[in-house]
Amino acid sequence: MRTLALAFESQAAIMVTDAQQVILRVNAAFSRLTGYSADEAIGRTPRLLNSGRQSSSFYRDLWASLGADGRWEGEVWNRRRSGEIFPEWLTISAVGHATGAVTHYVATFADISQLKQAQEEAVRLASCDALTGLPNRRLLLERLAGAMADASRHGQYGAALMFDLDRFQTINDACGNEMGDRLLKAAAERAARWAGAGRMLARLGGDKFVLLLEDLGATSEEAGRRAEEAAESLRQHLAAAYGMEGGGSLLCTASIGLILFHQQSKGSEPLLKQLDMALIRAKEAGRNSIRFFDEAMRREMDQRAQLESGLRRALADNELRLFVQPQVDPARRLIGAECLLRWQPPGGAMILPGEFIPLAEETGLIVPIGEWVLDQACACLSRWATSPVMGRLDLSVNVSVRQFRQPDFVQKVEAALARHGADPHRLKLELTESLLLDNVEEVVGKMQDLIKLGVRFSLDDFGTGYASLAYLKRYPFEQLKVDRSFISDLGSDRGDAAIVGAILAMGHALRLNVVAEGVEEGGQLSFLVEHGCRYFQGYLFGRPMSFSAFEELAPLEHSGRFPAVSPSVSSSAG
Ligand code: C2E
Ligand code: MG
Ligand code: MG
Repeated sequence: MRTLALAFESQAAIMVTDAQQVILRVNAAFSRLTGYSADEAIGRTPRLLNSGRQSSSFYRDLWASLGADGRWEGEVWNRRRSGEIFPEWLTISAVGHATGAVTHYVATFADISQLKQAQEEAVRLASCDALTGLPNRRLLLERLAGAMADASRHGQYGAALMFDLDRFQTINDACGNEMGDRLLKAAAERAARWAGAGRMLARLGGDKFVLLLEDLGATSEEAGRRAEEAAESLRQHLAAAYGMEGGGSLLCTASIGLILFHQQSKGSEPLLKQLDMALIRAKEAGRNSIRFFDEAMRREMDQRAQLESGLRRALADNELRLFVQPQVDPARRLIGAECLLRWQPPGGAMILPGEFIPLAEETGLIVPIGEWVLDQACACLSRWATSPVMGRLDLSVNVSVRQFRQPDFVQKVEAALARHGADPHRLKLELTESLLLDNVEEVVGKMQDLIKLGVRFSLDDFGTGYASLAYLKRYPFEQLKVDRSFISDLGSDRGDAAIVGAILAMGHALRLNVVAEGVEEGGQLSFLVEHGCRYFQGYLFGRPMSFSAFEELAPLEHSGRFPAVSPSVSSSAG
Protein backbone atom coordinates (compact mmCIF):
# COMPACT_ATOMS: atom_id res chain seq x y z
CA MET A 1 0.00 0.00 0.00
CA ARG A 2 2.92 2.29 0.82
CA THR A 3 4.43 1.67 -2.60
CA LEU A 4 1.13 2.35 -4.25
CA ALA A 5 0.68 5.55 -2.31
CA LEU A 6 4.13 6.66 -3.39
CA ALA A 7 3.38 5.91 -7.02
CA PHE A 8 0.17 7.85 -6.75
CA GLU A 9 2.09 10.96 -5.82
CA SER A 10 3.97 11.00 -9.11
CA GLN A 11 4.79 14.09 -11.21
CA ALA A 12 1.79 13.47 -13.47
CA ALA A 13 -1.64 14.56 -12.30
CA ILE A 14 -3.89 11.64 -11.45
CA MET A 15 -7.65 11.59 -11.04
CA VAL A 16 -9.77 8.54 -10.18
CA THR A 17 -13.52 8.53 -10.77
CA ASP A 18 -16.22 5.94 -10.33
CA ALA A 19 -18.17 4.50 -13.22
CA GLN A 20 -20.47 7.56 -13.14
CA GLN A 21 -17.42 9.86 -13.46
CA VAL A 22 -17.71 11.22 -9.97
CA ILE A 23 -14.21 12.15 -8.80
CA LEU A 24 -13.10 9.93 -5.91
CA ARG A 25 -9.47 10.82 -5.56
CA VAL A 26 -6.84 13.18 -6.95
CA ASN A 27 -3.14 13.52 -6.21
CA ALA A 28 -1.02 16.52 -5.26
CA ALA A 29 0.17 17.00 -8.85
CA PHE A 30 -3.48 17.32 -9.89
CA SER A 31 -3.95 20.17 -7.41
CA ARG A 32 -0.70 21.80 -8.48
CA LEU A 33 -1.70 21.67 -12.13
CA THR A 34 -5.37 22.55 -11.97
CA GLY A 35 -5.41 24.76 -8.89
CA TYR A 36 -8.19 22.66 -7.31
CA SER A 37 -7.52 21.11 -3.91
CA ALA A 38 -8.61 17.52 -3.31
CA ASP A 39 -11.55 18.76 -1.25
CA GLU A 40 -12.73 21.00 -4.08
CA ALA A 41 -12.46 18.27 -6.70
CA ILE A 42 -13.78 15.20 -4.93
CA GLY A 43 -17.47 14.67 -5.46
CA ARG A 44 -17.48 16.73 -8.67
CA THR A 45 -17.09 15.38 -12.25
CA PRO A 46 -14.19 16.15 -14.67
CA ARG A 47 -16.45 18.73 -16.31
CA LEU A 48 -15.04 20.93 -13.60
CA LEU A 49 -12.02 21.35 -15.87
CA ASN A 50 -13.89 21.82 -19.10
CA SER A 51 -12.37 24.60 -21.23
CA GLY A 52 -15.15 24.63 -23.82
CA ARG A 53 -12.49 24.20 -26.50
CA GLN A 54 -13.46 20.67 -27.48
CA SER A 55 -16.66 20.02 -29.37
CA SER A 56 -19.26 17.52 -28.18
CA SER A 57 -18.29 15.23 -31.04
CA PHE A 58 -14.77 15.14 -29.58
CA TYR A 59 -16.15 13.73 -26.31
CA ARG A 60 -18.43 11.34 -28.18
CA ASP A 61 -15.40 9.87 -29.96
CA LEU A 62 -13.45 9.75 -26.68
CA TRP A 63 -16.17 7.75 -24.95
CA ALA A 64 -16.66 5.50 -27.93
CA SER A 65 -12.98 4.55 -27.91
CA LEU A 66 -12.99 4.13 -24.12
CA GLY A 67 -15.96 1.79 -24.46
CA ALA A 68 -14.30 -0.21 -27.20
CA ASP A 69 -10.66 -0.35 -26.02
CA GLY A 70 -10.92 0.55 -22.35
CA ARG A 71 -8.40 3.28 -22.97
CA TRP A 72 -8.02 6.69 -24.60
CA GLU A 73 -5.09 8.97 -25.09
CA GLY A 74 -4.76 12.38 -26.65
CA GLU A 75 -4.39 16.11 -26.38
CA VAL A 76 -7.01 18.08 -24.47
CA TRP A 77 -7.34 21.73 -23.53
CA ASN A 78 -8.55 22.17 -19.94
CA ARG A 79 -9.20 25.12 -17.68
CA ARG A 80 -7.38 25.77 -14.41
CA ARG A 81 -9.14 27.14 -11.36
CA SER A 82 -7.64 30.53 -12.25
CA GLY A 83 -9.52 30.43 -15.56
CA GLU A 84 -6.34 29.92 -17.59
CA ILE A 85 -6.60 27.39 -20.38
CA PHE A 86 -3.75 24.95 -20.90
CA PRO A 87 -2.99 21.97 -23.13
CA GLU A 88 -2.46 18.59 -21.53
CA TRP A 89 -1.62 15.11 -22.65
CA LEU A 90 -4.36 12.91 -21.16
CA THR A 91 -4.53 9.12 -20.73
CA ILE A 92 -7.74 7.52 -19.46
CA SER A 93 -8.03 3.85 -18.52
CA ALA A 94 -11.30 2.08 -17.70
CA VAL A 95 -10.78 -0.25 -14.71
CA GLY A 96 -12.64 -3.52 -15.20
CA HIS A 97 -13.01 -3.09 -18.92
CA ALA A 98 -11.62 -6.59 -19.49
CA THR A 99 -14.33 -8.23 -17.37
CA GLY A 100 -17.05 -6.15 -18.91
CA ALA A 101 -17.95 -4.29 -15.74
CA VAL A 102 -16.23 -0.92 -15.53
CA THR A 103 -15.91 0.19 -11.92
CA HIS A 104 -13.52 3.16 -12.17
CA TYR A 105 -11.77 5.45 -14.58
CA VAL A 106 -8.19 6.51 -13.96
CA ALA A 107 -7.05 9.65 -15.76
CA THR A 108 -3.44 10.80 -15.78
CA PHE A 109 -2.33 13.96 -17.48
CA ALA A 110 0.63 16.24 -17.86
CA ASP A 111 0.84 19.92 -18.79
CA ILE A 112 2.30 20.19 -22.29
CA SER A 113 2.29 24.02 -22.55
CA GLN A 114 6.07 24.13 -22.82
CA LEU A 115 6.15 21.48 -25.49
CA LYS A 116 3.49 23.40 -27.38
CA GLN A 117 5.47 26.61 -27.03
CA ALA A 118 8.54 24.89 -28.37
CA GLN A 119 6.52 23.64 -31.31
CA GLU A 120 5.19 27.11 -32.00
CA GLU A 121 8.69 28.52 -31.76
CA ALA A 122 9.82 25.96 -34.32
CA VAL A 123 7.01 27.04 -36.62
CA ARG A 124 7.92 30.68 -36.04
CA LEU A 125 11.55 29.99 -36.87
CA ALA A 126 10.50 28.21 -40.03
CA SER A 127 8.58 31.29 -41.12
CA CYS A 128 11.25 33.81 -40.20
CA ASP A 129 14.27 35.02 -42.02
CA ALA A 130 17.37 34.19 -40.00
CA LEU A 131 19.34 37.36 -40.78
CA THR A 132 16.73 40.03 -40.09
CA GLY A 133 14.23 38.11 -37.97
CA LEU A 134 11.50 39.33 -40.32
CA PRO A 135 8.77 37.02 -41.62
CA ASN A 136 9.86 35.14 -44.71
CA ARG A 137 8.22 34.59 -48.06
CA ARG A 138 6.07 31.74 -46.83
CA LEU A 139 4.55 33.73 -44.05
CA LEU A 140 4.16 36.75 -46.29
CA LEU A 141 2.14 34.75 -48.83
CA GLU A 142 -0.10 33.53 -46.02
CA ARG A 143 -0.64 37.02 -44.60
CA LEU A 144 -1.09 38.53 -48.02
CA ALA A 145 -3.86 36.05 -48.78
CA GLY A 146 -5.47 36.99 -45.46
CA ALA A 147 -5.12 40.71 -46.15
CA MET A 148 -6.68 40.28 -49.59
CA ALA A 149 -9.61 38.38 -48.09
CA ASP A 150 -10.05 41.10 -45.46
CA ALA A 151 -9.90 43.81 -48.11
CA SER A 152 -12.68 42.22 -50.08
CA ARG A 153 -14.76 41.51 -46.94
CA HIS A 154 -14.56 45.11 -45.76
CA GLY A 155 -14.75 46.79 -49.15
CA GLN A 156 -11.36 48.35 -48.52
CA TYR A 157 -8.28 48.71 -50.65
CA GLY A 158 -4.94 47.52 -49.44
CA ALA A 159 -1.51 47.86 -51.00
CA ALA A 160 1.63 45.78 -51.19
CA LEU A 161 4.92 47.56 -51.50
CA MET A 162 8.10 45.87 -52.63
CA PHE A 163 11.48 47.47 -52.25
CA ASP A 164 15.06 46.52 -52.79
CA LEU A 165 18.31 48.31 -52.19
CA ASP A 166 19.84 50.01 -55.19
CA ARG A 167 23.17 48.52 -56.28
CA PHE A 168 23.20 46.24 -53.27
CA GLN A 169 25.07 43.59 -55.24
CA THR A 170 27.83 46.04 -56.04
CA ILE A 171 28.20 47.02 -52.39
CA ASN A 172 28.16 43.38 -51.38
CA ASP A 173 30.82 42.50 -53.94
CA ALA A 174 33.00 45.49 -53.15
CA CYS A 175 32.76 45.50 -49.35
CA GLY A 176 32.19 41.82 -48.61
CA ASN A 177 29.28 39.70 -47.43
CA GLU A 178 29.63 40.70 -43.82
CA MET A 179 29.19 44.35 -44.69
CA GLY A 180 26.33 43.43 -47.02
CA ASP A 181 24.59 41.56 -44.21
CA ARG A 182 25.02 44.50 -41.87
CA LEU A 183 23.53 46.84 -44.41
CA LEU A 184 20.58 44.50 -44.97
CA LYS A 185 19.93 44.31 -41.25
CA ALA A 186 20.14 48.07 -40.86
CA ALA A 187 17.76 48.65 -43.76
CA ALA A 188 15.35 46.01 -42.40
CA GLU A 189 15.41 47.62 -38.96
CA ARG A 190 14.86 51.03 -40.44
CA ALA A 191 11.91 49.86 -42.51
CA ALA A 192 10.44 47.94 -39.57
CA ARG A 193 10.66 50.99 -37.33
CA TRP A 194 9.05 53.08 -40.03
CA ALA A 195 6.27 50.51 -40.55
CA GLY A 196 5.44 50.15 -36.87
CA ALA A 197 4.29 47.03 -35.08
CA GLY A 198 0.92 46.57 -36.77
CA ARG A 199 2.18 46.18 -40.33
CA MET A 200 3.56 43.14 -41.99
CA LEU A 201 7.12 43.59 -43.25
CA ALA A 202 8.73 40.51 -44.78
CA ARG A 203 12.04 39.71 -46.40
CA LEU A 204 11.62 37.83 -49.65
CA GLY A 205 15.27 36.98 -49.94
CA GLY A 206 18.36 38.86 -51.04
CA ASP A 207 17.78 42.56 -50.60
CA LYS A 208 14.10 42.35 -51.47
CA PHE A 209 11.42 43.22 -48.92
CA VAL A 210 7.63 43.45 -48.97
CA LEU A 211 5.43 45.61 -46.79
CA LEU A 212 1.63 45.31 -46.52
CA LEU A 213 -0.50 48.41 -46.10
CA GLU A 214 -4.13 47.73 -45.17
CA ASP A 215 -7.37 49.71 -44.88
CA LEU A 216 -6.29 52.44 -47.26
CA GLY A 217 -9.79 53.53 -48.19
CA ALA A 218 -12.83 52.46 -50.17
CA THR A 219 -11.80 54.01 -53.50
CA SER A 220 -8.76 53.32 -55.62
CA GLU A 221 -8.02 57.07 -55.79
CA GLU A 222 -7.84 57.48 -52.05
CA ALA A 223 -5.96 54.22 -51.55
CA GLY A 224 -3.55 55.04 -54.37
CA ARG A 225 -2.78 58.44 -52.92
CA ARG A 226 -2.23 57.08 -49.42
CA ALA A 227 -0.11 54.21 -50.66
CA GLU A 228 2.05 56.55 -52.67
CA GLU A 229 2.50 58.90 -49.74
CA ALA A 230 3.55 55.97 -47.59
CA ALA A 231 5.97 54.74 -50.26
CA GLU A 232 7.48 58.20 -50.64
CA SER A 233 7.98 58.51 -46.91
CA LEU A 234 9.60 55.07 -46.75
CA ARG A 235 11.81 55.90 -49.72
CA GLN A 236 13.10 59.00 -47.96
CA HIS A 237 13.69 57.07 -44.77
CA LEU A 238 15.71 54.44 -46.57
CA ALA A 239 17.70 57.00 -48.56
CA ALA A 240 19.35 58.53 -45.48
CA ALA A 241 22.97 57.54 -44.97
CA TYR A 242 23.76 54.48 -42.86
CA GLY A 243 26.28 55.03 -40.11
CA MET A 244 28.96 52.37 -40.21
CA GLU A 245 31.14 50.97 -37.48
CA GLY A 246 34.35 52.95 -37.26
CA GLY A 247 32.65 56.21 -38.10
CA GLY A 248 32.12 56.13 -41.85
CA SER A 249 28.75 56.26 -43.51
CA LEU A 250 27.22 54.50 -46.47
CA LEU A 251 24.63 55.76 -48.92
CA CYS A 252 22.22 53.18 -50.29
CA THR A 253 18.88 54.22 -51.72
CA ALA A 254 15.91 51.94 -52.40
CA SER A 255 13.58 51.45 -55.34
CA ILE A 256 9.93 50.73 -54.66
CA GLY A 257 7.19 48.93 -56.60
CA LEU A 258 3.57 49.35 -55.50
CA ILE A 259 0.29 47.62 -56.19
CA LEU A 260 -3.23 48.02 -54.81
CA PHE A 261 -5.45 45.07 -54.02
CA HIS A 262 -9.19 44.83 -53.45
CA GLN A 263 -12.13 42.54 -54.26
CA GLN A 264 -11.09 41.44 -57.69
CA SER A 265 -7.44 40.89 -56.99
CA LYS A 266 -6.08 37.48 -57.91
CA GLY A 267 -4.03 35.26 -55.63
CA SER A 268 -0.99 36.36 -53.67
CA GLU A 269 1.58 34.72 -55.99
CA PRO A 270 0.37 36.60 -59.10
CA LEU A 271 0.30 39.79 -57.06
CA LEU A 272 3.95 39.32 -56.12
CA LYS A 273 4.86 38.80 -59.79
CA GLN A 274 3.14 42.05 -60.68
CA LEU A 275 4.93 43.77 -57.84
CA ASP A 276 8.20 42.47 -59.21
CA MET A 277 7.41 44.07 -62.53
CA ALA A 278 6.61 47.42 -60.88
CA LEU A 279 9.90 47.23 -59.01
CA ILE A 280 11.83 46.52 -62.20
CA ARG A 281 10.23 49.59 -63.75
CA ALA A 282 11.18 51.67 -60.72
CA LYS A 283 14.78 50.54 -61.23
CA GLU A 284 14.65 51.35 -64.91
CA ALA A 285 13.37 54.81 -64.04
CA GLY A 286 16.79 55.50 -62.56
CA ARG A 287 16.52 53.88 -59.11
CA ASN A 288 15.61 55.61 -55.83
CA SER A 289 12.11 55.91 -57.24
CA ILE A 290 8.59 54.52 -56.97
CA ARG A 291 6.42 52.86 -59.61
CA PHE A 292 2.84 51.65 -59.42
CA PHE A 293 1.87 48.51 -61.25
CA ASP A 294 -0.36 49.81 -64.05
CA GLU A 295 -2.46 48.73 -67.01
CA ALA A 296 0.42 48.94 -69.47
CA MET A 297 2.49 46.59 -67.29
CA ARG A 298 -0.47 44.25 -67.00
CA ARG A 299 -0.85 44.17 -70.77
CA GLU A 300 2.86 43.57 -71.21
CA MET A 301 2.81 40.72 -68.72
CA ASP A 302 -0.20 39.18 -70.45
CA GLN A 303 1.52 39.45 -73.80
CA ARG A 304 4.65 37.86 -72.44
CA ALA A 305 2.65 35.06 -70.87
CA GLN A 306 0.91 34.52 -74.21
CA LEU A 307 4.17 34.59 -76.10
CA GLU A 308 5.65 32.09 -73.68
CA SER A 309 2.81 29.61 -73.93
CA GLY A 310 2.78 30.15 -77.70
CA LEU A 311 6.47 29.40 -77.87
CA ARG A 312 6.08 26.17 -75.92
CA ARG A 313 3.37 25.19 -78.36
CA ALA A 314 5.50 26.25 -81.31
CA LEU A 315 8.15 23.75 -80.38
CA ALA A 316 5.70 20.92 -79.73
CA ASP A 317 3.57 21.59 -82.83
CA ASN A 318 6.38 22.14 -85.29
CA GLU A 319 5.72 25.80 -85.90
CA LEU A 320 9.40 26.73 -86.04
CA ARG A 321 11.02 27.17 -89.44
CA LEU A 322 14.67 27.37 -90.26
CA PHE A 323 15.66 29.78 -93.01
CA VAL A 324 19.06 30.29 -94.58
CA GLN A 325 20.80 33.37 -95.84
CA PRO A 326 23.59 33.11 -98.42
CA GLN A 327 27.18 34.21 -97.75
CA VAL A 328 29.37 35.12 -100.72
CA ASP A 329 32.91 36.09 -101.65
CA PRO A 330 33.93 39.29 -103.55
CA ALA A 331 33.12 37.60 -106.86
CA ARG A 332 29.65 36.85 -105.41
CA ARG A 333 30.37 33.16 -105.42
CA LEU A 334 28.36 31.30 -102.83
CA ILE A 335 30.55 30.06 -99.99
CA GLY A 336 28.08 29.27 -97.28
CA ALA A 337 24.90 30.17 -95.48
CA GLU A 338 23.66 31.13 -92.05
CA CYS A 339 20.67 29.42 -90.43
CA LEU A 340 18.10 31.90 -89.14
CA LEU A 341 15.12 30.89 -87.10
CA ARG A 342 11.52 31.87 -87.83
CA TRP A 343 8.29 31.15 -86.05
CA GLN A 344 5.21 30.59 -88.14
CA PRO A 345 2.09 30.41 -85.93
CA PRO A 346 -0.86 28.84 -87.75
CA GLY A 347 -2.82 31.56 -89.55
CA GLY A 348 -0.56 34.31 -88.16
CA ALA A 349 2.26 36.41 -89.52
CA MET A 350 5.78 35.05 -89.40
CA ILE A 351 7.61 36.10 -86.24
CA LEU A 352 11.27 37.12 -86.34
CA PRO A 353 13.76 35.82 -83.77
CA GLY A 354 14.30 39.26 -82.23
CA GLU A 355 10.78 38.97 -80.85
CA PHE A 356 11.04 35.59 -79.21
CA ILE A 357 14.70 34.64 -78.69
CA PRO A 358 15.15 36.89 -75.63
CA LEU A 359 12.11 35.31 -73.96
CA ALA A 360 13.29 31.85 -74.98
CA GLU A 361 16.61 32.67 -73.31
CA GLU A 362 14.91 33.84 -70.15
CA THR A 363 12.62 30.85 -69.84
CA GLY A 364 15.23 28.31 -70.85
CA LEU A 365 13.18 27.30 -73.89
CA ILE A 366 16.20 28.27 -75.96
CA VAL A 367 17.83 25.00 -74.98
CA PRO A 368 15.35 22.66 -76.70
CA ILE A 369 14.86 25.22 -79.50
CA GLY A 370 18.61 25.40 -80.05
CA GLU A 371 18.81 21.62 -80.17
CA TRP A 372 16.11 21.58 -82.79
CA VAL A 373 18.03 24.14 -84.89
CA LEU A 374 21.23 22.12 -84.61
CA ASP A 375 19.42 18.98 -85.62
CA GLN A 376 17.90 20.67 -88.67
CA ALA A 377 21.27 22.13 -89.66
CA CYS A 378 23.01 18.75 -89.40
CA ALA A 379 20.25 17.07 -91.39
CA CYS A 380 20.73 19.71 -94.06
CA LEU A 381 24.52 19.26 -94.13
CA SER A 382 24.18 15.55 -94.69
CA ARG A 383 21.63 16.17 -97.47
CA TRP A 384 23.98 18.63 -99.14
CA ALA A 385 27.03 16.41 -98.82
CA THR A 386 26.16 14.43 -101.94
CA SER A 387 25.81 17.49 -104.16
CA PRO A 388 28.96 18.89 -105.84
CA VAL A 389 27.69 22.47 -105.40
CA MET A 390 26.09 22.29 -101.98
CA GLY A 391 28.60 19.92 -100.50
CA ARG A 392 31.25 22.68 -100.43
CA LEU A 393 29.14 25.14 -98.45
CA ASP A 394 29.65 26.00 -94.81
CA LEU A 395 26.57 26.22 -92.65
CA SER A 396 26.52 28.60 -89.69
CA VAL A 397 24.29 28.13 -86.68
CA ASN A 398 23.62 30.75 -84.00
CA VAL A 399 24.17 29.46 -80.50
CA SER A 400 22.76 31.37 -77.58
CA VAL A 401 24.68 31.89 -74.35
CA ARG A 402 22.36 29.79 -72.27
CA GLN A 403 22.53 26.96 -74.77
CA PHE A 404 26.32 27.01 -74.87
CA ARG A 405 26.48 27.02 -71.05
CA GLN A 406 24.62 23.71 -70.81
CA PRO A 407 27.08 21.22 -69.33
CA ASP A 408 26.37 18.74 -72.12
CA PHE A 409 26.54 21.21 -75.00
CA VAL A 410 29.59 19.57 -76.60
CA GLN A 411 27.94 16.15 -76.42
CA LYS A 412 24.72 17.56 -77.87
CA VAL A 413 26.55 18.93 -80.92
CA GLU A 414 28.46 15.70 -81.34
CA ALA A 415 25.25 13.70 -81.13
CA ALA A 416 23.48 15.88 -83.70
CA LEU A 417 26.38 15.49 -86.13
CA ALA A 418 26.48 11.74 -85.60
CA ARG A 419 22.72 11.34 -85.90
CA HIS A 420 22.81 12.66 -89.45
CA GLY A 421 26.31 11.64 -90.40
CA ALA A 422 27.09 15.30 -91.07
CA ASP A 423 30.64 16.52 -91.73
CA PRO A 424 31.74 18.59 -88.68
CA HIS A 425 34.12 20.61 -90.87
CA ARG A 426 31.16 22.22 -92.62
CA LEU A 427 29.50 23.32 -89.38
CA LYS A 428 30.21 26.77 -87.97
CA LEU A 429 28.89 27.93 -84.64
CA GLU A 430 28.21 31.64 -84.13
CA LEU A 431 28.71 32.88 -80.59
CA THR A 432 28.11 36.39 -79.26
CA GLU A 433 30.39 38.56 -77.19
CA SER A 434 28.25 38.28 -74.05
CA LEU A 435 29.42 34.69 -73.73
CA LEU A 436 33.04 35.79 -73.48
CA LEU A 437 32.73 37.97 -70.43
CA ASP A 438 33.34 35.30 -67.83
CA ASN A 439 34.46 31.71 -67.33
CA VAL A 440 37.15 32.05 -69.95
CA GLU A 441 38.67 28.62 -69.28
CA GLU A 442 35.35 26.85 -69.42
CA VAL A 443 34.29 28.51 -72.66
CA VAL A 444 37.67 27.96 -74.29
CA GLY A 445 37.65 24.35 -73.12
CA LYS A 446 34.33 23.65 -74.75
CA MET A 447 35.38 25.39 -77.94
CA GLN A 448 38.58 23.32 -78.06
CA ASP A 449 36.61 20.09 -77.60
CA LEU A 450 34.41 20.98 -80.54
CA ILE A 451 37.33 22.17 -82.66
CA LYS A 452 38.90 18.73 -82.17
CA LEU A 453 35.80 17.33 -83.87
CA GLY A 454 36.33 19.74 -86.77
CA VAL A 455 33.68 22.32 -85.86
CA ARG A 456 34.62 25.99 -86.33
CA PHE A 457 33.64 29.18 -84.51
CA SER A 458 32.54 32.61 -85.57
CA LEU A 459 32.12 35.67 -83.34
CA ASP A 460 28.80 37.27 -84.22
CA ASP A 461 27.74 40.93 -84.01
CA PHE A 462 31.31 42.03 -83.41
CA GLY A 463 31.60 45.59 -82.18
CA THR A 464 28.30 45.79 -80.32
CA GLY A 465 29.51 44.34 -77.04
CA TYR A 466 32.65 44.48 -75.03
CA ALA A 467 34.89 42.18 -76.99
CA SER A 468 38.29 43.70 -77.44
CA LEU A 469 41.42 42.66 -79.16
CA ALA A 470 42.66 41.16 -75.89
CA TYR A 471 39.53 39.05 -75.66
CA LEU A 472 39.74 37.84 -79.18
CA LYS A 473 43.26 36.53 -78.69
CA ARG A 474 42.12 34.26 -75.89
CA TYR A 475 39.47 32.42 -77.88
CA PRO A 476 39.93 30.08 -80.83
CA PHE A 477 37.67 31.87 -83.29
CA GLU A 478 38.18 31.41 -86.98
CA GLN A 479 35.90 34.18 -88.05
CA LEU A 480 34.33 37.38 -86.89
CA LYS A 481 31.25 39.07 -88.21
CA VAL A 482 31.15 42.85 -88.26
CA ASP A 483 27.78 43.89 -86.94
CA ARG A 484 25.47 45.28 -89.57
CA SER A 485 24.94 48.50 -87.63
CA PHE A 486 28.43 49.56 -88.75
CA ILE A 487 27.85 48.52 -92.34
CA SER A 488 24.53 50.30 -92.82
CA ASP A 489 26.05 53.76 -92.29
CA LEU A 490 29.26 53.16 -94.20
CA GLY A 491 28.37 55.69 -96.90
CA SER A 492 27.36 58.49 -94.53
CA ASP A 493 29.23 58.01 -91.26
CA ARG A 494 32.96 58.57 -91.35
CA GLY A 495 33.29 57.12 -87.86
CA ASP A 496 31.71 53.84 -88.94
CA ALA A 497 33.97 53.70 -91.96
CA ALA A 498 36.97 54.11 -89.69
CA ILE A 499 35.72 51.41 -87.34
CA VAL A 500 35.06 48.93 -90.13
CA GLY A 501 38.46 49.68 -91.62
CA ALA A 502 40.07 49.07 -88.24
CA ILE A 503 38.17 45.83 -87.63
CA LEU A 504 39.22 44.53 -91.04
CA ALA A 505 42.86 45.42 -90.46
CA MET A 506 42.80 43.88 -87.03
CA GLY A 507 41.04 40.76 -88.28
CA HIS A 508 43.74 40.24 -90.88
CA ALA A 509 46.47 40.79 -88.34
CA LEU A 510 44.92 38.11 -86.14
CA ARG A 511 44.42 35.85 -89.17
CA LEU A 512 40.67 35.84 -88.79
CA ASN A 513 38.16 35.76 -91.59
CA VAL A 514 36.00 38.82 -91.42
CA VAL A 515 32.42 38.67 -92.64
CA ALA A 516 30.49 41.87 -93.23
CA GLU A 517 26.86 41.45 -92.21
CA GLY A 518 23.91 43.35 -93.61
CA VAL A 519 25.42 44.45 -96.91
CA GLU A 520 22.54 46.04 -98.81
CA GLU A 521 24.14 48.37 -101.35
CA GLY A 522 26.81 48.28 -103.99
CA GLY A 523 28.59 51.25 -102.38
CA GLN A 524 28.99 49.34 -99.13
CA LEU A 525 30.33 46.36 -101.01
CA SER A 526 32.94 48.47 -102.88
CA PHE A 527 34.15 50.05 -99.64
CA LEU A 528 34.45 46.65 -98.00
CA VAL A 529 36.23 45.06 -100.94
CA GLU A 530 38.60 47.99 -101.11
CA HIS A 531 39.48 47.50 -97.44
CA GLY A 532 40.20 43.84 -97.88
CA CYS A 533 36.92 42.24 -96.76
CA ARG A 534 36.48 38.84 -98.36
CA TYR A 535 33.16 37.53 -97.06
CA PHE A 536 29.73 39.09 -97.26
CA GLN A 537 26.21 38.51 -96.17
CA GLY A 538 23.25 40.79 -96.78
CA TYR A 539 20.13 41.56 -98.76
CA LEU A 540 22.32 42.56 -101.70
CA PHE A 541 23.08 38.85 -102.22
CA GLY A 542 19.99 37.28 -100.79
CA ARG A 543 17.51 37.51 -97.99
CA PRO A 544 16.93 34.72 -95.53
CA MET A 545 14.89 32.11 -97.39
CA SER A 546 13.55 28.62 -96.98
CA PHE A 547 15.92 25.72 -97.52
CA SER A 548 14.02 24.64 -100.61
CA ALA A 549 14.31 28.11 -102.16
CA PHE A 550 18.01 28.15 -101.31
CA GLU A 551 18.58 24.70 -102.74
CA GLU A 552 16.94 25.77 -105.98
CA LEU A 553 18.99 28.95 -106.27
CA ALA A 554 22.38 27.68 -105.20
CA PRO A 555 23.14 25.58 -108.29
CA LEU A 556 22.57 28.70 -110.42
CA GLU A 557 25.65 30.10 -108.76
CA HIS A 558 27.58 27.36 -110.46
CA SER A 559 26.97 28.94 -113.84
CA GLY A 560 27.99 32.42 -112.78
CA ARG A 561 27.48 34.78 -109.91
CA PHE A 562 25.10 34.20 -107.11
CA PRO A 563 22.02 36.15 -108.21
CA ALA A 564 20.55 38.97 -106.25
CA VAL A 565 17.53 37.03 -105.17
CA SER A 566 14.47 37.22 -107.32
CA PRO A 567 11.67 39.45 -106.00
CA SER A 568 9.32 36.53 -105.36
CA VAL A 569 11.78 34.93 -102.98
CA SER A 570 12.84 38.11 -101.22
CA SER A 571 9.29 39.17 -100.47
CA SER A 572 8.38 35.85 -98.92
CA ALA A 573 11.47 35.73 -96.80
CA GLY A 574 10.49 38.30 -94.18
P1 C2E B 1 22.41 37.52 -86.53
O1 C2E B 1 22.94 36.18 -86.23
O2 C2E B 1 23.34 38.65 -86.50
O3 C2E B 1 21.72 37.39 -87.95
C1 C2E B 1 21.74 38.37 -88.91
C2 C2E B 1 20.47 39.15 -88.91
O4 C2E B 1 20.59 40.21 -89.82
C3 C2E B 1 19.27 38.32 -89.36
O5 C2E B 1 18.14 38.81 -88.70
C4 C2E B 1 19.20 38.71 -90.84
O6 C2E B 1 17.90 38.55 -91.38
C5 C2E B 1 19.57 40.16 -90.78
N1 C2E B 1 20.10 40.63 -92.04
C6 C2E B 1 20.92 39.97 -92.88
N2 C2E B 1 21.23 40.75 -93.95
C7 C2E B 1 20.62 41.93 -93.77
C8 C2E B 1 20.55 43.13 -94.52
O7 C2E B 1 21.13 43.28 -95.58
N3 C2E B 1 19.81 44.16 -93.99
C9 C2E B 1 19.17 44.03 -92.83
N4 C2E B 1 18.46 45.07 -92.38
N5 C2E B 1 19.17 42.90 -92.10
C10 C2E B 1 19.90 41.86 -92.56
P2 C2E B 1 17.09 37.84 -88.08
O8 C2E B 1 16.88 36.67 -88.93
O9 C2E B 1 15.92 38.66 -87.69
O10 C2E B 1 17.82 37.32 -86.79
C11 C2E B 1 18.11 38.17 -85.76
C12 C2E B 1 18.99 37.54 -84.74
O11 C2E B 1 18.32 36.48 -84.08
C13 C2E B 1 20.23 36.89 -85.30
O12 C2E B 1 21.20 37.87 -85.54
C14 C2E B 1 20.61 35.96 -84.21
O13 C2E B 1 21.31 36.64 -83.20
C15 C2E B 1 19.27 35.55 -83.66
N6 C2E B 1 18.95 34.22 -84.18
C16 C2E B 1 18.46 33.87 -85.37
N7 C2E B 1 18.33 32.54 -85.46
C17 C2E B 1 18.76 32.04 -84.30
C18 C2E B 1 18.90 30.69 -83.76
O14 C2E B 1 18.62 29.69 -84.41
N8 C2E B 1 19.39 30.57 -82.49
C19 C2E B 1 19.74 31.66 -81.77
N9 C2E B 1 20.21 31.47 -80.54
N10 C2E B 1 19.64 32.92 -82.24
C20 C2E B 1 19.16 33.10 -83.48
MG1 MG C 1 24.41 35.13 -86.60
MG1 MG D 1 25.07 39.15 -86.48
